[in-house]
Amino acid sequence: MWPVLTRHLIWPLHERLLGRATFRFLRELEDSQWLAPADVARLQERKLQALLRHAAANTRFYGRLMQSTGADPRHDPPLEVLRRLPPVSKADIREHLDEMTWPAAPGGLFPSNTGGSTGEPLIFYLDRRRQAYDMAARLRSHRWFGVGVGERELYLWGSPIEWSRNDRLKRQRDGLINHRLLSAFDMAPQRLDAYLDELERYQPACLFGYPSSLALLATHGRTTGRRLRRRRLRAVFVTGEVCHAHDRDTIRDYFGVPVADGYGSREAGFIAHECPEGNLHLTAENVVVEILRDDQPAATGEMGEIVVTHLDAYAQPFIRYRTGDVGRLRAGRCACGRGLPLMDVVCGRTTDFLYLPDGTVKHALSIIYPLRALAGVAQFRVLQDADYSVIVEVVRRPGTADLNEAAVAQAARPVLGTDVPLTVHLVPHIPASSSGKYRYVTSEVSRATAAQTQRLAPPPLRPATLAQEVTCA
Ligand SMILES: [Zn+2]
Repeated sequence: MWPVLTRHLIWPLHERLLGRATFRFLRELEDSQWLAPADVARLQERKLQALLRHAAANTRFYGRLMQSTGADPRHDPPLEVLRRLPPVSKADIREHLDEMTWPAAPGGLFPSNTGGSTGEPLIFYLDRRRQAYDMAARLRSHRWFGVGVGERELYLWGSPIEWSRNDRLKRQRDGLINHRLLSAFDMAPQRLDAYLDELERYQPACLFGYPSSLALLATHGRTTGRRLRRRRLRAVFVTGEVCHAHDRDTIRDYFGVPVADGYGSREAGFIAHECPEGNLHLTAENVVVEILRDDQPAATGEMGEIVVTHLDAYAQPFIRYRTGDVGRLRAGRCACGRGLPLMDVVCGRTTDFLYLPDGTVKHALSIIYPLRALAGVAQFRVLQDADYSVIVEVVRRPGTADLNEAAVAQAARPVLGTDVPLTVHLVPHIPASSSGKYRYVTSEVSRATAAQTQRLAPPPLRPATLAQEVTCA
């Protein structure tokens, strides 16, 4: 589809049919990014006050919480009210979901679940307003790199939402809004060749995907000596996991365009995005980001847990939501001129690939999603040994005796194929790694071993890289 038609007709129509004011919000965000930092802070406080008043009045959970702290969002300064509230965890949301939601949200409530590699499944609700603001923030970040609304975008992705609805209708819609999807869950070498063919045929303005998957694709192109013919490509957008420096270099060198990192999640929103100067700007109009150490605010520059309040989540407010990621706020202003504050994400999600004996490489999420979807799973871990065998450990939710080893194996088997020995253990507890974070998929099979078995090109990824743990300060 012509970008001009997509931009001016199809995209706006699509958003309007869904009842989302995405383009109005985009115009707002295009202006507010240039405000002085003090004005951004004022805008943020105004929105925070409205959200806190709404949450106190219309949700039982936050109403009770605010009452218990003695804070009154109608009169007290909003930041003060916010800081008196205890942070909210995934477990809190799971336990109090009904009391957290506002059924009267304009446009209705839309159930969603957590993306990313969290081992604990989480169901939550979105409304049209926050969907539109999250989308507008995403479109704005694309424009920072000269990628306009409606230009072609090629995804290397594997989210369950994108796949489960990947029927003909969805494909047609993607075609109309100039999106095309390649699976990050199936990356055998011959498939990577086909992906590069598709990239040359489609000529997208940007690529979007997990940094590890895009680095794998770039490495494949480089090691097979393939020179990429690209005419329109202007940026590669990575998200969903920590982007290691070596992956960033690999992607940039092969595709020959800037790599920009985005930080966010399905439940917490579009939290921050890198600008062309290489700095990560908060989407300060849509989220308040706090850094906490022992639940107390950390000083600017100090590392701690990233806790997020989404300013446009009205159907289900996310107020002081624990992301489980680690980062810091940064002082100073970016040379790009935007007044949006800066942050670093030091430690976030990190995953390994799974390897199959036939050379297929699967993104960790390909096994995380079916396990997470199993009823009764509280927590899990996937360990792949050097001989390709896989152990899945599962902690059951209390009162779910129906979940047995066979059910877990049945969920994992389609991902692993028939040649991989699979053992399932029901365990009482899964310990955190030395960094304090859970690693949901760990694979001892190095790319080198896989390459040797297959007599492929030299290993594109060093074993040390695959086994690398992101450590937090
Ligand atoms: Zn900047």
